[in-house]
Amino acid sequence: MSKNSFKFSDKADEADEWSALREHGLGDIWHHAEAWHEHGSSDLFGPAVPMVGLASWNDGAFLLTGVGATGGGFGATTGGAGTGGTTVTPGGTTGAAATKFVINLKYDASAAAMPAAMKAALAAAANYFMHLFANTETVNLTVGYGKVGTTTLGAGTLGAAGPYGITETYAAFKAQIGSHITSADQQTVYNNMGADPTNGGKIFLATAEAKALGLLSTYTSTDGIMGFAKAWSSTNTSGVKWDYDPSNGITAGNYDFYGVALHEIAHALGRIAILGSPAGQYSAMDLFRYSGVDANGNGVHSLKQTTPAYFSIDGGKTNLDWYSTTSDLGDWAASAGNDANNAYAASGVVNSFTHTDVVQMNALGFALL
Ligand SMILES: [Zn+2]
Repeated sequence: MSKNSFKFSDKADEADEWSALREHGLGDIWHHAEAWHEHGSSDLFGPAVPMVGLASWNDGAFLLTGVGATGGGFGATTGGAGTGGTTVTPGGTTGAAATKFVINLKYDASAAAMPAAMKAALAAAANYFMHLFANTETVNLTVGYGKVGTTTLGAGTLGAAGPYGITETYAAFKAQIGSHITSADQQTVYNNMGADPTNGGKIFLATAEAKALGLLSTYTSTDGIMGFAKAWSSTNTSGVKWDYDPSNGITAGNYDFYGVALHEIAHALGRIAILGSPAGQYSAMDLFRYSGVDANGNGVHSLKQTTPAYFSIDGGKTNLDWYSTTSDLGDWAASAGNDANNAYAASGVVNSFTHTDVVQMNALGFALL
């Protein structure tokens, strides 16, 4: 999520935008974004930041996997030790089978300095999802302070997160959705899944999402990593002025930490865009992305990074929210209102996890309580 006041809207094309980004001091973010764009799949399996922000506060979804860069996964019959990626200490408890939806937050060494109020707000955000989903699974998320995994957050980054995941075929994903229908919306999703829109692409499923769809029953390692910007203080004046309690509004000039926490947790659970970068790979969420309807009223899939696109669960007929066309393309455009999953956030406002955000997680395979 990004601060509204710092705009690059006058930049005509992506190259200019990246250049502007670099000039304004987001060096670390620039570096990873550049690697993502220019080196593609070789960087998928390390912490790369796809399509990160074009504004001073931004967010990037990290994609991580424990398998090698050639694909495969932790799937039921494949998997194995990876050759890429960042080493992240597995978080949370392992062993006992979950009896409800549980999120374990595992704080890494950097988080020793995290303010207690931030940890409390993050726990509250995790608790929100634990009371939202009906899936019986345990999700282990590793949390950093000022860094995500081994990567220091660039200046201007509010938070970053991303899932570990597996890849599979569209046919396999469609079958899993069809066998895990728990709501009218999920039935609508399934009814509108036609032929493979990716033309044989690989579908990336976050491990948390895969578990919700009946896969990875023995997977107990890390499902995702998150990191949050350090707080402003008199001795860290480059930090973010966070407001940890949205229940009484957000103080002018401060940012809604709880909303950012919801945003990043959702990323770690699978709310990400991939859109063919690396080539031939798409997130599950990409499959419900459309640019419009054709002459027959059928939705036109939007699997490219540059096309204005919206989220729909009924095959593109109903636009539930526009995606951002800059920064994180898996986040919403400003037209979504003050939504936790927006690409850009204003200060001084509460950013809520809206009904559309819940529907989106439901469409990805999570069952609602
Ligand atoms: Zn985002």
